[in-house]
Amino acid sequence: MDLRDILLDLVAPATVGDALAPGVHLRGASTELGFRITVLVDGRHEVHVEVSPRAPGQPHAARTDKLAFTYRSGGAERVDPQAGMRACRAVAAAAAPRETAVLSALAEEGRGEASRIREVEVTRLLELAGTPERRFYTLSPYVGCLIGCRFCYAQSRLDPMRGVIRLPQVPWGSYVDVRVNAPEVLAAELRELRRLPIKFCPIVSDPYQAIERRVGLTRRCLEVLAAVPDPPPVMIMTRSDLILRDLDLLRALPEAWAGASIPTLDDTVRAHFEPRAASIPARFAMLRALREAGIRRGVVVQPMLPGPLEPLADALAEHVDSVSLGVLRGEHGAVADFADPRYQHSGDEAWQKERAIALRDALVARGVTVWLSELPPEIEAWRPAAAR
Ligand code: SF4
Repeated sequence: MDLRDILLDLVAPATVGDALAPGVHLRGASTELGFRITVLVDGRHEVHVEVSPRAPGQPHAARTDKLAFTYRSGGAERVDPQAGMRACRAVAAAAAPRETAVLSALAEEGRGEASRIREVEVTRLLELAGTPERRFYTLSPYVGCLIGCRFCYAQSRLDPMRGVIRLPQVPWGSYVDVRVNAPEVLAAELRELRRLPIKFCPIVSDPYQAIERRVGLTRRCLEVLAAVPDPPPVMIMTRSDLILRDLDLLRALPEAWAGASIPTLDDTVRAHFEPRAASIPARFAMLRALREAGIRRGVVVQPMLPGPLEPLADALAEHVDSVSLGVLRGEHGAVADFADPRYQHSGDEAWQKERAIALRDALVARGVTVWLSELPPEIEAWRPAAAR
């Protein structure tokens, strides 16, 4: 069963659109980055309520006997604290009578599963993201990532979720859920849902991690997108050069953006923090191949990692017109890696911010557009044909 459907059962009998409390309406649920229930407060505050098992000392905005509820903003802006509290309390009140049954159902999902690579089926694939003014979908054919970058913050959400569904606790980077029916679900959703830009989501999984070579789910999703009339903009970022296998499909899409995450120019640093990702020279070679194929390109620099800054800005400016910057979001599995005397300074929040500002300035000076949002400005400005 789709984990999302089990999670939604926590607030049953309410279904999407129903009120959980006065002024608090259910919008949906997600299990891509931990357990999350989304509500709309007073018709204007979108709040993601994160649901996790209660633990001693755990911060929370509301709790029940077995669960803790916290909130985070639905978009780039900070969420109104009062709206966040109301959202958490409404979800907690709805969940209290149902949590025992739902936790049992979740635990059943993983019982007896020993394989680190699970085949799962989903009932929904496209996840609504962004702010009400700048909507887009994320698309994840896989959840979990075999590239296993040490600093990847997905592990802080997915590792505990595996505990709840009683899957073996194994290291980040060694497990992945393969959403085997993703292309079929995508085809149905493209017929039913409002047309919006689609971002293959490298936050929870890289769309070109090694298993894609064998399973081909990302490729099949691109085939579905290339076959629909007036396809929406599609953006794919990756740390793998397997993306070059799909140049034919990227070319077939009228508005495809592709590119790489490149947090440093120093491949020794890359090998330390991202041992199973493509080398830095391979990522720049990938960008050149995308350019030769006529594909629009972007780069994400996240997190900031040590290495020469001005040469990085030069290399980026030579290969792309636009770059997104992001800082480290916690060390997660990279605590020991950042403790290495060579890299200790770079785990510091102040260093991350200073480096991001210095890189931004160096890029702007070279005529590169720097964006801090989830999508490049050109995609954010996109409107469906009917609205143009
Ligand atoms: S490639 Fe992306 S999703 Fe995969 S481990 Fe690295 S940062 Fe996480």
